[in-house]
Amino acid sequence: MSETPRLTLYPYGGLGEIGLNSLALDYGESLALVDCGLMFPEDYHLGVDVVIPRFDHLIENRERLKGIVLTHGHEDHIGALPWLVPHLAQSGRPAIYGSAFTLALVEHKLRERGLLDAAELVRVDPGDCKTLGDFKFRFFPVCHSIIDGMALGIETPVGKILHTGDFKLDPAPLSGPGTDLEVYGKFAGKSGLRLLLSDSTNVENYGHSLGEREVFSALRGVFAQARGRLLVTLFASNIQRIQEVFDCARENGRQVMVIGRSLLNNIEMAQSLGCLKAEDGLILNGDQPAELPDDRLVLLVTGSQGEPMSALARIVWGGHKFLTINPGDTVIMSSRLIPGNTSAVNRLINQLYRRGASVLYQQVSGIHASGHAYRDELAAVLRAGRPEYFIPVHGEYRHLVKHAELAAEHGVDPEKIFILEDGQPFSLGKKNPRKKNGPEAAGRLEEPIPAESILVDGKGVGDVGQAVLKERQLLGDEGMVTLLVVLDAKTRETLLGPEIQSKGFIFEQSTGHVLEDSLAIARDVLAQERGAAPDILQDKLRSALRRHFRRLIGRDPVVVPQVRLI
Ligand SMILES: [Zn+2]
Repeated sequence: MSETPRLTLYPYGGLGEIGLNSLALDYGESLALVDCGLMFPEDYHLGVDVVIPRFDHLIENRERLKGIVLTHGHEDHIGALPWLVPHLAQSGRPAIYGSAFTLALVEHKLRERGLLDAAELVRVDPGDCKTLGDFKFRFFPVCHSIIDGMALGIETPVGKILHTGDFKLDPAPLSGPGTDLEVYGKFAGKSGLRLLLSDSTNVENYGHSLGEREVFSALRGVFAQARGRLLVTLFASNIQRIQEVFDCARENGRQVMVIGRSLLNNIEMAQSLGCLKAEDGLILNGDQPAELPDDRLVLLVTGSQGEPMSALARIVWGGHKFLTINPGDTVIMSSRLIPGNTSAVNRLINQLYRRGASVLYQQVSGIHASGHAYRDELAAVLRAGRPEYFIPVHGEYRHLVKHAELAAEHGVDPEKIFILEDGQPFSLGKKNPRKKNGPEAAGRLEEPIPAESILVDGKGVGDVGQAVLKERQLLGDEGMVTLLVVLDAKTRETLLGPEIQSKGFIFEQSTGHVLEDSLAIARDVLAQERGAAPDILQDKLRSALRRHFRRLIGRDPVVVPQVRLI
């Protein structure tokens, strides 16, 4: 007698790192993919632009794929689609399900790559239900740092699964119904969920995340007090926050000039979907210098991470066509600071102060809130869902472990909590009411599948094996940066350097600070890794500097650090 089918989850990415979120559900003849994210390289090889999950298993089984379901539009959930879709198109156009704003971002992405006809985009709205083979997906709205995010209630032959997507609980969201625990409770029903998959990103943060209403009121306070110009920088996909800036501007009789392509694109997209409202005349044409008095103007600009070609950096460092920083300006940095960018942002903030501006950033004011649930919120979802099985998702390994501990504290049987990593499948059998606790129903780990992520260069080639060729090409195209530092072999005091030299690595005037910044980064690495062996220091310096050059100026020179002990 053949074994009755089991539901198997295949995590392709997102378990063990922040990014790459992608998980397949497999039952009998039905295969469905939840999210298809990328990750920006942290410690990458030459020429690597992005990292994507390994989809070998999905591609091998593409005939059975019933659809791709997207929780929301962040890159770490949709960014790998342009790489996956061409592989799937060979067995028909895959259906991609997502909310209106998510699909608008996907459409933009696929169009850029000439792939729009290769997939069928199916819009879903909160409350909708879609059947994909043996799975029935229900779409629940959530609060997150992007609009139109969804959690997924999945009815499967082995029971109900809730996949939270990225979320937070905001008891008083500014718009929309927000994350609704009652809905989760109803979906879970009397007996509770069979399985909960929940976002682990912020499990280390105790308490409750700041609500968007609190951020709005902090912004309002700043707008009300500012006498000069206001510059606001944030992530271009944070439409909700952009709406708050528009509202604050209107309330204070200011007009908004939007500067930066990604902001302009996303604002246009959100407006056309009715997700963002600006009354006529609120937005100024960004191509013209404003004739307005300072206290009538808001500049909404890209560059919250200090990227030097962004609008904010150009304005600050004197590289913008017609805008500079004036004494009395207030700059609001309303976003998370990505760790690798700390030193660029610090320099930017210092320069802003030097120019007489005052700067508000996350650390010193409530002008930003995380989009991910803190510990108390995660606990509330566990209580609402009452899952039999629990698998923490979206997080580095330590986040998964801590989330697993939290689940155990909230009544989940520790034997039914599974910490998976990418490539480690997990399966669940059907419960048979006549055979209570039958072993065939129990969750178990399955044989791992290959899941080491793929490093992709901008041309869409996963060609890390050709590193040497790439290096030669880069030497020609992007130039070289060398860094020398001499350390005392015993005390590890720096005796010489760090000294930096570049060849064929040309800087525009406005990015001349990039080399100076890299010295600061090198010093940070040396301080952090004090005592490490020279080859380890060299590796660390190389990755930190390459990351810096790529993020700041989009260039990828060959970096040759030399650490000598004497
Ligand atoms: Zn997200």
